[in-house]
Amino acid sequence: MNREVKKPGLRTRAVHAGEEPDPCTGASAPNLVMSTTFVADPGASFSIEGFEEGAGYIYSRWANPTVAQLERKLAELEGAPACLAFASGMAAISALFLHLLRPGDRLLISDVSYAGAAELAKGLLTELGVEVDRVDMSDLAAVARALSRPARLVYIETPCNPILRLTDIASVAGLAHAQGAVLAADSTFATPVATRPLELGADYVLHSLTKYLCGHGDAVGGALLGPREEMARVRKEMLVHVGGVLSPFNAWLILRGAATLPLRMQAHEQAALVLARFLEGHPQVRRVIYPGLDSHPQHALAARQMANFSGILTFQVADGPAAARVLAERLRVIHYAVSLGHHRSLIFYMHTDDLLASSFPLIPEQEAAYRAFAGEGLFRLSVGLEDPEDLMTDLDQALQGL
Ligand SMILES: *Cc1c(COP(=O)(O)O)cnc(C)c1O
Repeated sequence: MNREVKKPGLRTRAVHAGEEPDPCTGASAPNLVMSTTFVADPGASFSIEGFEEGAGYIYSRWANPTVAQLERKLAELEGAPACLAFASGMAAISALFLHLLRPGDRLLISDVSYAGAAELAKGLLTELGVEVDRVDMSDLAAVARALSRPARLVYIETPCNPILRLTDIASVAGLAHAQGAVLAADSTFATPVATRPLELGADYVLHSLTKYLCGHGDAVGGALLGPREEMARVRKEMLVHVGGVLSPFNAWLILRGAATLPLRMQAHEQAALVLARFLEGHPQVRRVIYPGLDSHPQHALAARQMANFSGILTFQVADGPAAARVLAERLRVIHYAVSLGHHRSLIFYMHTDDLLASSFPLIPEQEAAYRAFAGEGLFRLSVGLEDPEDLMTDLDQALQGL
């Protein structure tokens, strides 16, 4: 009988992928292996040059069984050939940059990027002799113009932190590949539930596992996913030699969080939509940006590229800095704090001048495009898993009389 092997659904993969019952004890939950070293075969090589992917464990900076379980689960969720876990999202981003870029190479980076990535590009990478150009990646004509000169890497983030501008991954992949460049996408805000960039043509995907993948605000981690041989080289250079490996305990926490990712993303999206509509109708709120609202300037792209609009929205009020002080004091359920993607709702105010300073000094057109999304400053609200009614009540009482 010819039975077709059907790939399990995303929820099944989130629960089971990468985990097998322990062959010795039958333990159903993944083991937490804190051991730094593993009793070795006397013939084992002491050098990473003799190390083969998947050929047994030697030392936890090279590979660790609990971290390997997380790497397999993430690879299955993204539909990626291979995954490497890192100590943080920034460790994964810097590993990709240092792996691909050499003096004289050109990097095209989104003119709105996570502050850490932007600062790394304009600081250390530039000092190391990498030519860094920033591009409004939501403007395909600007991307094509920038690619009229050779580039090694095109680096995007979609939706981008914090202004929730989107990039059309398939179109930018087409433009990059036609000019011999590779494309990497930071998909932290989307998660594999919403968007799988590799299926759209990206060569690499990055995540801050600290955010939705962990989902509970108690472990910092990062991941880089891409071609198998490439990832084996990145392991040797960037994990074994540079050394920013993920702790097995954090891997275990993130494994546990990732199991419920599809269900959490459904709840985050539902609640974010309720709150986005509530805020859009609120007299103190000037503007709301959420990919799931018709009013998002790229809503059509969001509907095409995102199977879930995720749980982050931004909104603007008349006097942001004053409102930030009031909200930080009055909010009872929502925590006034950075980070996002946790089960707790988090809100933080970002002044556009600060964002521009921590990102890039832009040319006037880019700055105007930026302000079209961010105004003078915005509240970034990461909608958690509380009852949406309680979040509305909390925001409503905090916004009174502003
Ligand atoms: C938080 C974040 C990062 C950095 O991740 P860390 O785990 O904090 O190092 C990178 N990209 C995006 C989009 C983020 O939100």
